[in-house]
Parts: sequence; C-alpha cells; structure tokens
Amino acid sequence: MRPILITISILLFSSLVFSSEKKQGNITYANGAKYKGELKDGMPKSLPPEISQSFVMLNLSSIEDQYFIDMATDAESKMASLKAKTLLIIYPLGEFVSNRPPIGFKGNTNFRGATHKVVLTESEINNINENVSNFLAKASCTDYQYKRRYINETDWWLRNGGASQSQSPICNDIRIIMISIDPDRKKPRERDNLSYVFYHEVYHSFQHDLTYNCRGPNDLWVIEAAASYFARYSVAMSNGASHKMFVNGLLDFALWHANNLGTKLEDPGVAEKGLGALRLMIEKGWLEESRVLDGSLFHDCARVKEFSDSDPKIQYLKDHWYKIENNNGNFEFNLSNGKGPSQNETIKTVNYDTNLMELCREHIAHGWKSYVKINKKEFNSKGYLFAVVGEDGRCEHGFGPTQKHAFNDCTHWKKKNNIIGTCELYARGEEVVWRGVNGK
Ligand SMILES: [Zn+2]
Repeated sequence: MRPILITISILLFSSLVFSSEKKQGNITYANGAKYKGELKDGMPKSLPPEISQSFVMLNLSSIEDQYFIDMATDAESKMASLKAKTLLIIYPLGEFVSNRPPIGFKGNTNFRGATHKVVLTESEINNINENVSNFLAKASCTDYQYKRRYINETDWWLRNGGASQSQSPICNDIRIIMISIDPDRKKPRERDNLSYVFYHEVYHSFQHDLTYNCRGPNDLWVIEAAASYFARYSVAMSNGASHKMFVNGLLDFALWHANNLGTKLEDPGVAEKGLGALRLMIEKGWLEESRVLDGSLFHDCARVKEFSDSDPKIQYLKDHWYKIENNNGNFEFNLSNGKGPSQNETIKTVNYDTNLMELCREHIAHGWKSYVKINKKEFNSKGYLFAVVGEDGRCEHGFGPTQKHAFNDCTHWKKKNNIIGTCELYARGEEVVWRGVNGK
C-alpha cells in the first residue's frame, strides 16, 4: 500500500506557481491547469458562497448543504461575540486505506489524519485551491509565503487522500475548517457523529484565544473539552434531549474514558476526559456553563488566568473529575468516596511535553484506535505500541506482538519520514507507559 502512495505523491507533488503579475489567468496549479478568472492582489477573485455571518462554505460531498447550514447558523447564534470569518471545506473521500497520514510532503506538514482513496476530480481540487487562495487573500496577519505554503499543503493533502477534521487558525479573524466525508461518515446512522465533529470544529473557529495567541499550562484539555462540551450540548439539544439527559450522557462518556484511558487530563482522549473536569467545575459553581456555551471563556485570555496550576481548585478538578458513579444508568459525581474508576490502578498515563504532544495528538489518537483493536484481536492484549516525537514535532508509531517487532515497525516509519528522535515504548497491552520525550 505504502509504495504505491509514495509513487503517486511523488508524481503528483509539485508546487502551485504564482506569477507576480497582476492580470487575468496568471495562476498555474500543480497539474498545469491555469486559473482563467479575474484576480485581486494576485489571487483568484471568485468568492465561495456565504452561508451565514461567519461562514463561507464549499461543500463537495453528497450531503445536502442545508444540513451544514443549519448547524453553522445554530452554532453561531449561541456565541457571545463573533470575530472570525471561516471557510468551511467539506470534501468526499473514498475507501479507507491506512490509519497513517499520506506521506511525501516536502517539509513538515501540520495536517493530520488517515489515508483514503481519492475521489475528488481534478477540477474539484482546483476549485478548492481557488477558494482557499481567494479566502487567504484576506488574511492580513500573514505573508504571501505562508499563504502559498498553506495552499500547497492543502492541494497535496487532497491529492493524496488525507482525511480531515481540523480547524486552522490562520489569523484571529481568518480560519479554515476542513472536514472529510468518507463512506462510513456518509451513512445516515453516523449523522450524529458527523454533527458532533462539525460542532466541535466550528466551536474552535469561535474561540478567540487559542495556543498561538494565549498560552497556559492547561490549554490542551480546556480548549478541546470546551469544544466537545459545546458539540455534545448542541447535538443533544437538536435531538430534543433535556439538559439532564445531556449531562447524564456526558458523565457516562467521561467515565468510560477514565476507565479505559486513565485519569490524567492528557491524551489519549483529552477532550473526552476534560468533559468531566469542565462539568465538575460547573457543578461546583466555579464556572458558569454559559461561558462555555457562548464561547466567552475564550475571550481576553481569561482561560489562562482561570486555569492556573497554582489554583487549588484546578488541582481539585484534576484529582476528582473521574469520580463518577453509575447508579442504574444515572451518572453522578460521588466526591466523598475516594475510589476512582475500576481500572484506575492499572493504568499509568502519558507524562510528556504538552507542546510537542499537541502536535502529535491526532497522530497518537489514530494510532491508539487501531492498536487497541489489533491488540485485542491479534496479540491477545499483549501487544506493544512504540511512538516517536521528532525534534520538529512530527510523530510516528509502530506496533507488534513483541517489543522488538513494535520498535522495528516504529523505526521503519520514522526513517521513512525522516523523523529525528528515538522510538519509545508508549503502551504495553492497553496500559500506557510512555515516560515522555525526555524519558524523565
Ligand atoms: Zn479539537
């Protein structure tokens, strides 16, 4: 599978070339096709259709526009203040190929996701390229080189079947969301999951403060958990659930993640585990739920002041968020008894450099999913997962039935992608034992 992909990516990979002249049709795309339309500041002038105050959308999937428009409008109406214009790109993918991202991009790519067969046509890819370059023309916080690189990266990602569910904060006021629709995600019974992904990503585009402009020690779980809190809330409400049902489902979900992925507010599953912490904070009266739901928790860097590790409340949350009890289907915090989730004692969790792991979050999450499956089925739960975080923040992993196999598999992919770093044991069976990038 891999060699074919490499060949395809080498054949297809080439830069978009822009000329500096300001006249019609002077843009050549990777395949040699030319953009014939009018230009503004050297970029194509055509605008993607506006669907609401904040969003322009390019939906190339077979799912009806209205479904996305309704969610975008609903999400937007809940926000306290709107700052950003966001380009939503919804694109189709073919059958699943590999849980690893496409390889072969010259330099680092921040894009993360699985690899699928490509079903976009040449003209559809060009259409996306045009829209992205046109949209980026408005991004005044960044320069021409960055924009050109971003367009190249998107072009390459689409041509190589990369899956997406991501939000890129290009500037404070310019965001791009890419969501891929593969054959599984297209199924009507998966609709709630797709809605959940959609609400999660659009919430990121409403967050004024993200790590690029406002940093603190609890960024990852607060930013991710708030997006998931909003997404679960929005999907529950649109399904006619009561607030009590929403909370019950949320605590059930958080407890499952504590039982299966450990109790540290870290990956894997940081967004889901963080739901428990946010909810506990709300129930304690330390945080107004409305500030999560209207996005104002992410205004004026309030998050960093309020989520400081020296605050005893934050330490309390970290020690108690998973103390959830299931009483015949009613999920509630039980903070008086000191007992954690059933498997808590056996699970050690990751202790890593947050900054680096943030870049690798999705990579590890993807790897973890297939590993757990294969580990149960093929290794009788005695498998090994190795991972490497490169000096530049890129990641790879490998697994196998013995330490040696898993290490060799990880090293193989590491070399293939020119990652500088050492493959280290991440998990044995389902126990995460990763000691961090520096092996502290
Ligand atoms: Zn997220």
